[in-house]
This record gives sequence, structure tokens and C-alpha cells, in this order.
Amino acid sequence: MSLKNYQYNAILRTYDDRRAASRVMLEKRQAEIAQKLPAYMELQAKIIENSMQFAKASLFAENGSPDTAGLRQQNEALSRQKEALLTANGYPADYLSPVYLCKDCQDTGMNGEERCHCFKQAVVDLLYAQSNIASIIQEENFGTFRFDYYNDNAVDPKTKLTPRQNIRHIYETCQSFVRNFDKDGGNLLFYGNSGLGKTFLSHCIAKELLGTAHTVLYLTAYELFDILGKAMYDNEQDFAASAEHILDCDLLIIDDLGTELATAFTMSRLNLCINERFINHRSTIISTNFGVQELADRYGERNFSRIFSSYTPLRFFGDDIRLKKKMES
Ligand SMILES: [Zn+2]
Repeated sequence: MSLKNYQYNAILRTYDDRRAASRVMLEKRQAEIAQKLPAYMELQAKIIENSMQFAKASLFAENGSPDTAGLRQQNEALSRQKEALLTANGYPADYLSPVYLCKDCQDTGMNGEERCHCFKQAVVDLLYAQSNIASIIQEENFGTFRFDYYNDNAVDPKTKLTPRQNIRHIYETCQSFVRNFDKDGGNLLFYGNSGLGKTFLSHCIAKELLGTAHTVLYLTAYELFDILGKAMYDNEQDFAASAEHILDCDLLIIDDLGTELATAFTMSRLNLCINERFINHRSTIISTNFGVQELADRYGERNFSRIFSSYTPLRFFGDDIRLKKKMES
């Protein structure tokens, strides 16, 4: 699945719009400060005057480097005074700095010769219609995760943990997955009954990684198999090109494995995806309502053992927490 021209242009337009909006906001703020804090403008004028002198001195310097250390020091002191003036009047120190959604590319979409991570993510969001993930992760993230939904009395006979102790362990494993993502990569397998926070936790991870310049693609197994089923190509190269983002994104989340309409063909495509990603050290999170035996039965002993050995398995257990959530809302 690659970008069509009109889609590419649509993304470029959002970058233009962003920069324009940022410019308008900055001009508004400048006008506001000019009116409310004339002293700020005087400091600003002094800095400009010094800079002009600096430029002149450089232009007419006799033996190479001009003696401008004094001017530079003055300007640094003036800049500090400007910031102090803003904060003393209740403004943030960077109130008059340009505001960018992406600091890495300053909303140009480019990092030198390369497309910025934010641009790559915009492409993935558009192609896979996952623009809603941005709003979901505002609600579902590590900060909003609630342990008190989980029972702390009943002890699981296998692990000797209560559901709450278990979810704490899973939560910490997810946080450490994020912390060590660039160093260790790795894969997670969330399995167990529905309504225990598997999708929620994958959103928590997505939020952290999206916030640290990674590309994340979230697909339900149903959506993934739909895409894989359409990619009916003669050779693997064509397939790789069409599934580029599925194979290449930094983190692929496959939610609800087991709900897909699978055929032998799509199943082999899934294997290919999982293998390719594994070989190229791209991380994947799979969540499923199946238990270990059901997974083995459905995906075959061989595939299953490969997944199980290269993924960190995390078993979710306890009572469905959705009812408790609903009662509170
Ligand atoms: Zn960027």
C-alpha cells in the first residue's frame, strides 16, 4: 500500500497549514507583548542594534576575527533579561519562540535529506485510517491506567498472584519495554480473556513510542488479514512493496488475533510478516483472547512455538473489568 499523489499532497498541505498557524500565533503574541510590555521591546531593539554592530565589526575586521566578545556577552545578558521580564509578568519564558508540533523538523516534515519520523507516521495514519489513535491515546495511557479495577483477593492457582498483582507486573513489563525499546526492541504477546486491559496497554505503549519519534501501526487482526488478503501478488517482492509499512514500522500492534477471517493464504502472509519483522529487529505486539493451547491449535505448533519463543508472553487473568468501568462512567 503506497501513497497516491493526492494523499501525499494532502499531507504536505497539513504541514503548510501548521507552519502558517504557528506564524499567525507568533505574530499575535508579539503584538500582545509589544502592547503590554514596552520594556521588552526596548531590550529587543538593543539586541538588534548590537547584532548590527556585530555584523559591521565582522565585515570590517582588519586581521581576521573581530573583537566582538563584549557584544555577544551583552546580548546574552539582554536575552536573559527578556526572559525574566516575561516570566515576571506571568508568561512562559519561551512565549515568543516559534511553536512547533514536531521540534525535530520544525514542522517541515524533513530532517536534512530524510523524511522526518512525524511525516512517516502521518503516512501510516493516512494509509491505514488510524488517525483516531491520536485521540484514543489521550484517554488510554500509562497515566490513566487504573489498578483498582482489578481484584486483589482471588489468587490465581498457577502464578499465586492476584489479578491486581499480575497486572502490576504486566504494567511494569510494558513500561520497561518502552524504556528499552531502542536498545533491546523485543516483542510482546498479550493473551487471556477479553476485558482485562490488553488493548488499553497496547495504547499506553503506542502513546509513549509515538511521543519519542517512533512509527507505530495499530491494526486489528481483522484489518490486517483484510490487507494481507488483498495483496495478491505473484512474487514476494511485490508483496513486500505493498506491505511496506506493515513490515517497516517501528512497532506493529496486532490486536485481537483470532478474530480474523483466515485462509491458508493469509495465514502464510501473517507468518511472513512476523518473520520479516523479527529478522529486521522490528518490534511487534500481539494481543489475543486465546489461551496457549488454542493458539497452538489454530496457528500450528511450529508457528506458535516460534511466536512464543521470540515474544515475551504476558497472561492476563481475572474478571472482566469493563463492567466496573461502565458502572463508574
Ligand atoms: Zn517532524
